Amino acid sequence: EAKRAGEGHVRLFDAPMNLRFVERARLRQALPEALARGEFSLVYQPQQTLGRGHTLGCEALLRWQHPDLGLTAPEVFIPVAEDCGLIVPIGAWVLEQACRQATRWPDGQSVAVNVSAVQLHSGLLVQQVQHALEASGLAPGRLELELTESALIDGEEKVRPTLERLRALGVRLAIDDFGTGYSSLSYLQRLPIDRLKIDRSFVMALTTPEAADRSLAAAVVRIARTLEMDTVAEGVESLDLLPQLRALGCDMVQGYAIARPMPADALLDWLRQARGA
Ligand code: C2E
Ligand code: MG
Ligand code: MG
Ligand code: MG
Repeated sequence: EAKRAGEGHVRLFDAPMNLRFVERARLRQALPEALARGEFSLVYQPQQTLGRGHTLGCEALLRWQHPDLGLTAPEVFIPVAEDCGLIVPIGAWVLEQACRQATRWPDGQSVAVNVSAVQLHSGLLVQQVQHALEASGLAPGRLELELTESALIDGEEKVRPTLERLRALGVRLAIDDFGTGYSSLSYLQRLPIDRLKIDRSFVMALTTPEAADRSLAAAVVRIARTLEMDTVAEGVESLDLLPQLRALGCDMVQGYAIARPMPADALLDWLRQARGA
């Protein structure tokens, strides 16, 4: 018995686990310097209408390149930045940078920026957004904020006035990864939301033979319709999905099948080419 318990204990500190712990500690050390050293950048992924394939906007996605640690995925460093509160200044940088870039896009496309729950609850978000809009000169209607369900649910009473102030500025609000975060739908009715992003897992399920799996994307579209929101299908990896998504009444698509996220200059070329085509 003791031996088995011992083994169990050892497993808690096995190599990959330990590595992850050490890695996180390294990230935590390197992160405070990252903004000042200019190690962050944004890449942009186009969002197209399903009808005519027009690019109406792009999502800004954060990248961190450290000289020794290399490129770290946002799914790894953003939780660390949230833990130590650094996501608040980092998020302000993302907002300003994304708004500045969007002013250069040829057809008035909008930019979607991911907002962390910590940033939303910081009490500084409205100010950050106002500053980014003023500094860049971007029309507020061209900025969309992507929020997660869990960020909206925790302290909904405090969140609602923040969302209403953002809406009053003219900024649009979307729910990211919709359907993966929380089981209650009642909050959707109470909050001013413009758009639901259909999570990639539901989009991928459209390729399976199981009718039950395929029905989830349809259900999200119906919820959105009922509440007068529009929908973006995320993680569309194959053009074969487009007819199905169109049939469901989905409005927009985003994913590798349309374009991979790309740096600002490459995106400008891509947008010009897409317009000429
Ligand atoms: P998200 O907002 O749901 O972004 C979509 C993610 O899916 C991005 O990963 C994107 O590169 C990836 N993706 C796009 N198309 C496809 C596809 O066809 N197939 C597959 N498999 N993946 C696709 P990325 O850039 O690694 O970002 C991961 C997550 O990190 C984001 O998920 C978002 O939650 C978070 N994140 C990224 N940038 C920011 C930021 O500036 N602030 C905050 N708070 N979070 C961010
Ligand atoms: Mg997003
Ligand atoms: Mg998403
Ligand atoms: Mg995601």
